[in-house]
Amino acid sequence: MTSESPSQLLSFLDASPTPFHAVEALCLRLKAAGFKELEEQESWNPLPGSRCFVVRGGTSLAAWIQGTEPPSDSGFRLIGAHTDSPNLRIKPQPDLNQHGYLQFGVEVYGGALLSSWADRDLSVAGMVYVRSESGKIEGHMLHHRDPFLRIPLLAIHLNRDVNEKGLVLNAQNHLPPIYGLEAEDDLNQGMHRLLAEMLKVEAEDILSFDLSLFDTQPAAILGKNQEFIVSGRLDNLYSCFCALEALLKDAETESPQTRMAVCFDHEEIGSMTTQGARSSFITSLLRRLNLENASQAFERSCARSMLISADMAHAVHPNFSEKHEPQHFPQINGGPVIKINAQGRYATNGGSEAIFEQICREGEIPLQKFVNRTDLACGSTIGPYVAGNLGVPTLDVGAAMLSMHSVREMGGAFDFGWMTQAFRGFYTRSELD
Ligand code: ZN
Repeated sequence: MTSESPSQLLSFLDASPTPFHAVEALCLRLKAAGFKELEEQESWNPLPGSRCFVVRGGTSLAAWIQGTEPPSDSGFRLIGAHTDSPNLRIKPQPDLNQHGYLQFGVEVYGGALLSSWADRDLSVAGMVYVRSESGKIEGHMLHHRDPFLRIPLLAIHLNRDVNEKGLVLNAQNHLPPIYGLEAEDDLNQGMHRLLAEMLKVEAEDILSFDLSLFDTQPAAILGKNQEFIVSGRLDNLYSCFCALEALLKDAETESPQTRMAVCFDHEEIGSMTTQGARSSFITSLLRRLNLENASQAFERSCARSMLISADMAHAVHPNFSEKHEPQHFPQINGGPVIKINAQGRYATNGGSEAIFEQICREGEIPLQKFVNRTDLACGSTIGPYVAGNLGVPTLDVGAAMLSMHSVREMGGAFDFGWMTQAFRGFYTRSELD
């Protein structure tokens, strides 16, 4: 068991209802640790040993420590994760008032477990774009902490066989949250006026927004021995946190290889966006960090690199163990779980697995392995996209959890210590064989 306290992780989860907030929280930690922010539109010339980070689109972030040797000689040690989680997003013209209730329309973002959003005390967070007095566009971050929304379940008396047949929610009809009862002056532009009040701006100056719902109940520790963490967005802020912890813990130590943590938005919707894992973000970064104009520096650096794709794994569920492959039952707090899939839904192969095995054996870190049941379709991660893009050996690994994609998930209070320790072993490893 490691001695790490999860309080910083809990604060990070609570401070990060959306990828905008997660990136902001990560930036604050990086700045406090002496990392310098670079802008993509400027030219870069980071010195060996320098510590930098860059943000794209406000929701994807990469932080790195430039190696003492050029990447074409010593390569990159990359850990990738994602900042987004499935949720409900507010529609652009949201007002939808029915039968005397104030409501608004929502879209489903990613593979949300819809029923988990019902009967929770919800609120809104994200980015609102506002026209300023000078005519410029200003982004206003919104994190309205007080609960003010609810998606009520239908009473069992009106849905008699729900316990036998399961709860079926139609995404268009059954998800609009309620936030009040209609009064005469609420009927026009209700949502815009509400946002204007929250942000102290004029409703007509709101140009657009990227807003989602979140559960206002704070992250918590539970279990007889405080062994569980329960919170929204464990998938995958848990891994973002571990990747950054590992980078920061050894930030004072120099190494020949360039160490990088990269947290992408939009994994849950396929990664094909401006700042997603299938965008130019990572390739462009690695090209720019090959500072010397040596011939084929980028290609040579990739050939000396490795990626860990860090994303949560499915712990065996005691009440549904038949959903798991019987030889592979990952346990919460049982250490990192290597994820393997013969169809390439995970990017792990025997070579990358062997390297991680070595790291964990040397660090006396418990290690687990996961494959899906052969008759069930397998999920995926950023791993295969980045591996294919860069052509670097890749390992998919994550901490075991339950209730993945629920509004409130359940993971281990000790695994993040193991994960961080394993990532430190990876970052500081100059040889990959
Ligand atoms: Zn994930």
